Parts: sequence; structure tokens; C-alpha cells
Amino acid sequence: MGRLSGKTILVTGAASGIGRAALDLFAREGASLVAVDREERLLAEAVAALEAEAIAVVADVSDPKAVEAVFAEALEEFGRLHGVAHFAGVAHSALSWNLPLEAWEKVLRVNLTGSFLVARKAGEVLEEGGSLVLTGSVAGLGAFGLAHYAAGKLGVVGLARTLALELARKGVRVNVLLPGLIQTPMTAGLPPWAWEQEVGASPLGRAGRPEEVAQAALFLLSEESAYITGQALYVDGGRSIV
Ligand code: NAD
Repeated sequence: MGRLSGKTILVTGAASGIGRAALDLFAREGASLVAVDREERLLAEAVAALEAEAIAVVADVSDPKAVEAVFAEALEEFGRLHGVAHFAGVAHSALSWNLPLEAWEKVLRVNLTGSFLVARKAGEVLEEGGSLVLTGSVAGLGAFGLAHYAAGKLGVVGLARTLALELARKGVRVNVLLPGLIQTPMTAGLPPWAWEQEVGASPLGRAGRPEEVAQAALFLLSEESAYITGQALYVDGGRSIV
């Protein structure tokens, strides 16, 4: 009996990195899955590899109509959603004074507005006992060359806490994960000096694995966390306490 047996979970960013690890873990824990990403080929591969009931829905989470369509398809297929884990996000780096406004707006659009669109719809659709997990970042504490990313990710914390208040009486919980440096395609392009600097500053002395963030999401989606809402959980090897 898995920790998500009998539950249907919608996972965004499911084609890569943390979202893909979460998709795999939730399937092993018995969930039926709605896997969402804008990368059609990678998403199809991720879903085909699952031994679970699952559908793939290609969508851009920053497009309101696309988000509506994702939830409509999920409900049509499964009738009900018990949890939503939103990992879709983008990163881009530039010092603030070299940061084109278009890049600022694009990162905020996907990471913050995308979270709002998914979270708002999840709040509407989830029923009593439902759980929503959003994704911020340790970068929200401030991160060199990441003004737009940091602002958006800290914004997600405010969004999660507000939705936790607004949805509490409905019996729906909302929490946000704050990963540190995790080994995924998003961070694969970081220059070696940046890796060394981050790993050197990490109390545990290493980067995290996507599965380690997925495990925290599993806890927040499962009934083991039934009395936890409005919380921001660092999954960062202690990086945030240094
Ligand atoms: P990743 O690039 O491996 O995966 C991100 C996925 O999101 C990709 O499959 C991508 O196609 C999808 N995506 C991006 N924009 C989308 C959109 N508009 N609509 C639909 N799908 C979209 O990255 P990851 O490292 O797995 O990151 C997952 C989440 O964790 C992100 O929100 C990221 O900001 C956050 N995070 C990552 C790290 C890290 O070190 N990797 C640290 C802190 C927070």
C-alpha cells in the first residue's frame, strides 16, 4: 500500500529534474498522475516510463487558457484531484544592471504568474483533504545575478501563505518547498566555479538530488502532514542557515 494509493496527483514540470523525480516517486507510491509540461517529447517519455495510471498534458503554465484546459482534462479523465505539485519553472542569470526587462518579465511570468494560475485553479478544484505544493527557492533569500528569479521565488512564498489562509476552511492545505542547489538540467549549465562556491557553502557539503526534493513533496501531499499548512520547507542541505 503506497502513501498515495487511491489519490490522483497533478505534477507540473514533470518532464525534467525535480518534477520528473516526483512523478516517478508518486507513481511508486500508488498515485494516478496527471503529468504537465511544455516539453512534449520529454513529457511523453516520462509518462511512458511509469507503471501507473497516468496522462500527459502539454501546456504552458503561464498561459491562463492552457491552465484551465489542463485541469479540465484532468477532471475529465480522473473525476477528482487530491493533490497538485507545481514544479514548472525557469532560471536565467544576469546582473541587475544588465538584465533586460524582457528577461525580468519572462521569469516572473513563468515562475510567479504561472504559480498563481496553477495554485488558483488548484484551490478551486481540490476538495477537503487536498494538498497543494508550490516551489520557491533558497535563492529567494537573495542570490547573485538572480534578481528576477529571487523576486519571483520569494513571491511564491507569499502566494502560498495567502492561499493557505484562504483555503484552510475548505480543508485544503498549501505549502511551499524551498530547494537549495539540486542536480538537474536547470543547474547543469552552471560554471564549475559557481558549483564549487555553492557546494562549499553548503553545510552538508554537496548538492541535492531531485529525489530528495520529491520526498519532501510526497510528505506534504500525504496524510502524514495533515496538520501542516502555510509552511515554507527548505530542502537545501542547510544552505539557508549559513
Ligand atoms: P528543470 O529545468 O530540470 O525542469 C523544469 C521543468 O519545467 C522543465 O521540464 C520545463 O520544460 C518545465 N517548464 C518550464 N517552464 C514551463 C512552462 N511555462 N510551462 C510548463 N512547463 C514549464 O528544473 P528543476 O531544477 O527540476 O526545477 C524545478 C523547480 O525547482 C523550478 O521551479 C525551479 O525554479 C525550482 N528550483 C530548482 C533548484 C535547482 O537547483 N535545480 C533550486 C531551487 C528551486
